[in-house]
Amino acid sequence: MAGARAVEEILARGGAEQFSITMFGDEPYGNYNRIMLSHVLSGEESDADIFLNALSWYRENNITLHSGVRAERIDRFTKNVFSDDGRVTPYDVLIIATGSRSHMPPMDGLYTPGGSVKHGVFGFRTIDDTRKMIQHAQHDHHSRAVVIGGGLLGLEAAYGLKSHGIDVEVVHSGGHLMNAQMGPDGGAVLRRSVEALGIRVHTGSRTTAVLGTDRVSGVRLRDREDIACDMVVVAAGIRPNVDLAVLSGLPVERAIVVDDQLRVQDEDDVYAVGECVQHRGEVYGLVAPLWEQAVVLANHVTGADTSAAYLGSRTATKLKVAGVEVASMGLHGPERDTDEHIVFSEPSRGVFKSIVVRDNKMVGATLLGDSRKVAYLTQAYDRGLPLPEERISLMFDLGTPGEDVGVAELDDDAQVCNCNGVSKKDLVGAVKGGCTSVAGAMDATRAGKGCGSCKLLVRQVVEWAADGAVEEDPAASYYVPGIPLDKPSLMAEIRKRGLRSVSQVFQALAPGSAEDAKSKMGLASLLKMMLADQYIDERDARFINDRVHANIQRDGTFSVVPQMKGGVTSVQQLRRIADVAEKHKIPLIKLTGGQRIDLLGVPKEDLPQVWADLDMPSGYAYGKSFRTVKTCVGKDFCRYGTGDSTKLGIEIESRFQGIESPAKLKLAVSGCPRNCAESLVKDVGVVAVEGGRWEIYVGGAAGAHIRKGDLLATVDDPDEVKVLTGRFMQYYRENANWLERTYAFVPRVGIEHIRAVIVADSEGIAGRLDSSMQASVDNYVDPWSERDDRLTPGQFRTSLPLTVLPQVPVR
Ligand SMILES: Cc1cc2nc3c(=O)[nH]c(=O)nc-3n(C[C@H](O)[C@H](O)[C@H](O)COP(=O)(O)OP(=O)(O)OC[C@H]3O[C@@H](n4cnc5c(N)ncnc54)[C@H](O)[C@@H]3O)c2cc1C
Ligand code: SF4
Repeated sequence: MAGARAVEEILARGGAEQFSITMFGDEPYGNYNRIMLSHVLSGEESDADIFLNALSWYRENNITLHSGVRAERIDRFTKNVFSDDGRVTPYDVLIIATGSRSHMPPMDGLYTPGGSVKHGVFGFRTIDDTRKMIQHAQHDHHSRAVVIGGGLLGLEAAYGLKSHGIDVEVVHSGGHLMNAQMGPDGGAVLRRSVEALGIRVHTGSRTTAVLGTDRVSGVRLRDREDIACDMVVVAAGIRPNVDLAVLSGLPVERAIVVDDQLRVQDEDDVYAVGECVQHRGEVYGLVAPLWEQAVVLANHVTGADTSAAYLGSRTATKLKVAGVEVASMGLHGPERDTDEHIVFSEPSRGVFKSIVVRDNKMVGATLLGDSRKVAYLTQAYDRGLPLPEERISLMFDLGTPGEDVGVAELDDDAQVCNCNGVSKKDLVGAVKGGCTSVAGAMDATRAGKGCGSCKLLVRQVVEWAADGAVEEDPAASYYVPGIPLDKPSLMAEIRKRGLRSVSQVFQALAPGSAEDAKSKMGLASLLKMMLADQYIDERDARFINDRVHANIQRDGTFSVVPQMKGGVTSVQQLRRIADVAEKHKIPLIKLTGGQRIDLLGVPKEDLPQVWADLDMPSGYAYGKSFRTVKTCVGKDFCRYGTGDSTKLGIEIESRFQGIESPAKLKLAVSGCPRNCAESLVKDVGVVAVEGGRWEIYVGGAAGAHIRKGDLLATVDDPDEVKVLTGRFMQYYRENANWLERTYAFVPRVGIEHIRAVIVADSEGIAGRLDSSMQASVDNYVDPWSERDDRLTPGQFRTSLPLTVLPQVPVR
């Protein structure tokens, strides 16, 4: 990363006129964003997306790239580089940017007798490491991994492997996680957040051996029991790549020793930059210092500013580790009696904040789980700003400037994106240069394209710089990221071209016909909604829940929720459920919020038999689809009831069961305005009112987001309720963005508009909406019927580890 960045900085200073540039890299690729390997491992990015410069960039800038070629030796006197392809390349100025490699700590059994690492042992440094790890993790028989090291890299590796369904344990020799970045209290909160992901953590524990003869079978710990596993990821630190420098007689201590100009000590024409460098005794392991080094180096090499000096970096780091925001700078805790230490800890939310103040200056901070104040704190730390008397306002927006003022007050060279070294000034420059959308400014500067933790600040800076004139990013309107079309245009193209499967859509409409994993589910749902029985189902377009028609749980087992229309059951059903639970030793039976019975802890391979024994249809408690209708007892039993809510709820559920939608749909019917079924906070909620009438509410929610639904209509009879409910749901299916719940869709489109279309038929589409919904209803097939007719041999084969579920005591 540092080498290519130094070249970019040199080119930006007119270096192309001064030098003909040759680059060597022993990885067989051009330069890529190493930080993003964590995202590649977790499947959030594909490896093709992380390349920083296309091969055309090298050509266009007349750079000769020797990829997959290792520089072996430098002759400083004849000024030649000798590479392992036998080439001898002369130079006037040489830059060494060999970075680091994974450190393999001494332990038994790590290597085969032939000297290579044992099968199943991985470092985590390169694209090739990452690809091999993914391949190994996805192997059917591999289900357990041990990660050695609980620092940044180890936690990222653990998080990434977990997303492949692997059972992960982290063994860390330090007393707490990420001990280089935070103190024990922060480490304890981080541990809680990491364990909440289902990753087991052993701190203060050292691995002494890797077990297994020709392949990994486990690890041995110094003071605990062996852990069985199929793969080991060693993330126990890095070591600078200094062999080339040592062999060439350059000064090397912990790394290659350079001066304030990044020139190798006592050399005139040899520079070094990046993690392979030791500057004033410091060796850095994060990218932010590299960007500063590259600027100084380029100024000297090109002569653009021969007074430029690199004086070291204050490492304020802002990262996203295992999905948790982490920011850390300076001291982790007080060192002197007179140091002030302000601490806020809320472990249940994974939030921890610690600030150390000395002589009214901030000398250290750790933020975990909430880094909203990081820009302000970084500035206070870097510049030694005087601090507010009310110290708590350093952590929360009480007396300190609001976010807008905060952005305006940020120094021009304040670093907004640490991962790619982008300052406020760079972003402002991009906006002034014509990039007035957030995505445009991000593309132009690469801000926000690393760990992603700075995206909010990037948006704020762009909005501030554009003075409110921010253009909407066109990609924000795409239905799915991989196809550059909004939903209406996409649907029109699908119809026009007669496309019937997800792969046909990619083939016809994706740039370069490239398939995009993140787009598959949304496309599958859309096609099914549009085409009903004409849709060609492709299994790889489905998420695991939709492949096995059950909801995957944290431990890799599944939950089975049979249908109970309107929350009504019978003696026979209850008896059967009890028998099934007993026969299959179901660890937990739980009533759901949607008035059904959830059998939790079913292994994947048992699913077909459990369904067969239940002999009840699926309750759809897993998909992006119509889920359930909650009902109150209604007028037959309740003395307040004015409508038969139970009957209507059952009828609605019978009609719309299982239809696909952009996000889940939860419904309810209440028998009077006392609203015992909580109809006002459902996607569609129905309430019986005086005079035998029914009110229909849409767009309600009571989950992470709380919203009271808007009144769509008041109608006279239950049949009208069913028609309008179906018409609204079809309109939502056709017009909502992928994963957009009704609580976002209804306010976005506006209840007046929705009312006009659905009730008054202002667009003349009511009939078509009704018949499209009817086609979906007619096409319904109970997915649990697949138990007799498996679509693939491995459909119900488990590849996940099963851990013991917590037993909830029955009181
Ligand atoms: C998975 C992962 C996640 C990370 N996440 C973050 C993060 O969130 N934030 C952060 O700040 N940092 C992060 N880092 C660290 C960051 O990637 C490094 O600081 C950065 O890559 C260092 O850049 P560099 O150019 O010095 O070395 P490198 O990027 O390693 O580049 C050096 C290159 O030189 C090649 N090379 C070595 N010797 C030779 C030779 N003799 N001849 C030819 N080529 C040679 C190497 O193979 C390598 O390709 C992460 C690192 C990894 C591995
Ligand atoms: S909503 Fe009304 S009818 Fe239904 S149970 Fe409550 S009080 Fe009774």
